[in-house]
Amino acid sequence: MHRATKIVATIGPASSTPEILLQMIQAGADVVRLNFSHGTADDHRQRAEFVREAARIAGREVGIMADLQGPKIRVGKFENGKTTLVPGHPFILDAACELGNDDRVGLDYKDLPRDLKAGDVLLLNDGLIVLTVERVIGEEIHTIVKVGGELSNNKGINRQGGGLTAPALTAKDMEDIKTAMSIGVEFIAVSFPKNATDMEMARQLSNIAGMPYGIKPKMIAKIERAEAIPVLQGILDASDGIMVARGDLAVEVGNAAVPALQKRMIRMARDSNKFVITATQMMESMIHAPVPTRAEVSDVANAVLDGTDAVMLSAESAAGKYPVQTIETMAAICVEAEKSEHVELDKDFLDRTFTRIDQSIAMGALFTAYHLGAKAIVALTESGSTALWMSRHWTHVPIFALTPRINSQRAMALYRNVTPLPVESNNDRDAALQRALEVVVSKGHASRGDMVVLTVGEPMGQAGGTNTLKIVRVGEAF
Ligand code: PGA
Ligand code: MN
Repeated sequence: MHRATKIVATIGPASSTPEILLQMIQAGADVVRLNFSHGTADDHRQRAEFVREAARIAGREVGIMADLQGPKIRVGKFENGKTTLVPGHPFILDAACELGNDDRVGLDYKDLPRDLKAGDVLLLNDGLIVLTVERVIGEEIHTIVKVGGELSNNKGINRQGGGLTAPALTAKDMEDIKTAMSIGVEFIAVSFPKNATDMEMARQLSNIAGMPYGIKPKMIAKIERAEAIPVLQGILDASDGIMVARGDLAVEVGNAAVPALQKRMIRMARDSNKFVITATQMMESMIHAPVPTRAEVSDVANAVLDGTDAVMLSAESAAGKYPVQTIETMAAICVEAEKSEHVELDKDFLDRTFTRIDQSIAMGALFTAYHLGAKAIVALTESGSTALWMSRHWTHVPIFALTPRINSQRAMALYRNVTPLPVESNNDRDAALQRALEVVVSKGHASRGDMVVLTVGEPMGQAGGTNTLKIVRVGEAF
């Protein structure tokens, strides 16, 4: 069954054996996410090796994403591992405190007292605990518990409305970028960027770290800070894609604001020729249960209908009981949702102007394939940008992106409605087109009599050179 929407699966303790990873890829994982908030460099390296091996056995390229921890602000540790906060009682966040108790706890970000003032509302542990700041005295933030509960070691802290100034890349992130590049990941996800500059800096560091390995990763901005919203266009322009990081975002802007923001972010990303991943709690109950809730099914389906490139699993696949079933279930929901989707090229499609030849060919191919009722679009591509442009508009015509470059294949694994396939490089244009068609037909994606729209560029083998559109009926002389 053809599925256009891609699945990103976080891997962790529940999914680190070659057997489970193979099953996850066979069930439909297109990109795996290494979460650098947990685990050592060696854990990630080992898991990446298992992923590459499993993908080889499965016969399909899978992308790997390194998700940096970023400046998540956290409380320190407690003498007893935790405390219980009682509504109405005082509690102190103390930058100078080593080990917490029932009165106070330390902070990993020592400058937090400088960022806060009386009246600020702090949300701990993903918003489950709420503290109001009474006053700041030196290193101590005196608060009153508004919503209490159990607070354990290293839980996260957000300020309602955002505005905490911790820099986007920590020393650990910079080390992790080097690890990620030595592993050879296709994507770097940056946590908590505030603006375009944060993304430009991350890209620069990643490109430098990737240089010895000849790689330039795709940069993903995780949109999870309130202050990222007003500057979203700038962040998009500085990134290759974004993640709707609903966990932290919901804590900062309030749960109720997130669904509308998700729709806006997806629309803006696609209009800007960037890809977008919808993340967090999509199948949360499947951490413990073999079936999702009805609400989760609707959430995944609605993200598909919003036009997301990919839906993401976090703890469900990293630490849950049913990593493989969760992916199978998610894949089935995507396929059903796509069937119900009303397809039409955006009304403003006809008004678009293009400055680039390759982009014009990509759009021409899409328009032609859609109106001609073509069975497939076959794009011979080096960098994958032709496929990305085509996939920014949704039609039911599947896009097959053929490339000799393995890193392009792995990156395109994330793009909606794009199936990357390997092909040998060939300097003869007509022979390359013939071979591309053979590959697609041999895999059963088109058969005799089907109309297929092909794109290719000259000179062959160079990125950004797509300049030719060809329409053929399978089986006719070429
Ligand atoms: P995280 O990011 O899982 O790394 O926190 C996603 C989110 O905040 O939603
Ligand atoms: Mn987050």
